[in-house]
Amino acid sequence: MPLEIVRNDITRMEVDAIVNAANETLLGGGGVDGAIHRAAGPRLLEECRTLNGCETGQAKITRGYNLPCQYVIHTVGPIWKGGANGERKLLASCYRSSLALAKEYHCESVAFPLISSGVYGYPKAEALQVAMDEITRFLLENDMTVYIVVFTRDAVELGGKLYKEVVAYIDDVYVSEHYDPYREARRSARADGAPANGLFRRPHREDTARNETIFAESAMPAPVIGSTEPKASLDDMLSQVDESFGQMLLRKIDEKGLTDAACYKRANVDRRLFNKIKNNPAYRPSKQTALAFAIALELPMNEAKELLMKAGFALSHSNKEDIVVEYCIMTGNYNLIEINQVLFRLDLQPLGY
Ligand code: ADP
Repeated sequence: MPLEIVRNDITRMEVDAIVNAANETLLGGGGVDGAIHRAAGPRLLEECRTLNGCETGQAKITRGYNLPCQYVIHTVGPIWKGGANGERKLLASCYRSSLALAKEYHCESVAFPLISSGVYGYPKAEALQVAMDEITRFLLENDMTVYIVVFTRDAVELGGKLYKEVVAYIDDVYVSEHYDPYREARRSARADGAPANGLFRRPHREDTARNETIFAESAMPAPVIGSTEPKASLDDMLSQVDESFGQMLLRKIDEKGLTDAACYKRANVDRRLFNKIKNNPAYRPSKQTALAFAIALELPMNEAKELLMKAGFALSHSNKEDIVVEYCIMTGNYNLIEINQVLFRLDLQPLGY
């Protein structure tokens, strides 16, 4: 996945380069800087001494030594002084300079901590937003996998609105769907000495008013099971295979007037995976990938379900990821990065690849 938020210690990231939130001397410090120097060993400090420091907003690169990454990109974030002192611009510049260096050194994967959001005091939610904005902008023009590594779950203090709305929606849908009145009735009947079976039949799903059509009706003739007069042969049926996931995806990209690249970048899907889908009509992507495309294409609910079905999946209320996505589609929120922030915060799998 081109952009992913992960919870980890950055010194453990197996990527081409990790980014260090350093200070202007580049001679080590506390926080993530200290952790990186400890894990890399003393040769990192030796190389840093040759660099003559670094200005705020700029970046310099060294080798990774004992770290599992090849390079460390050292960048100096601004100290938060209330927000009116060019902090945002300088922080954005840290991401831009670091990504430019990563590109120059042909890195395919880079991991960032939330620069300036520790001792330097930049509010975490705003620091995250700057990181997302700059990385997303970079990824629109470049192919790279970029991780934002947050140390603790609480480090992601989201702007809150979407997150709170989604949590409320999950509570409504998930809890009510998992409350089974028939089981409750059986349980109390047993407690009253009534027979455990037979009295309380759980209605078939088709009986319930809430039944929802998950699978669209097929245009295919239905096979007649057990009949001596088959209405359609297997060959007939096989000759009527519907449009595949990839074909539908490409058609919808054209219908929306998007380029392929704009679509897969919006979907947070990597170019190689997109080409696999494009070049092999039988390719079935994962559910996360199919949903990411539905979001990137801003499909309304019925079309999103149709696209998902082409990959062999459905949206289900027994799955929290699905409820989050359903809520976002229903409310017209097609910002994949925001949706992934909410999924991350809820400990659910993000969309994309
Ligand atoms: P700054 O001085 O730029 O604020 P800090 O190192 O104090 O840098 O903090 C930057 C961010 O890195 C903070 O959000 C902090 O929680 C986080 N952090 C600290 N150690 C690690 C680590 N080992 N891995 C990932 N993130 C870390």
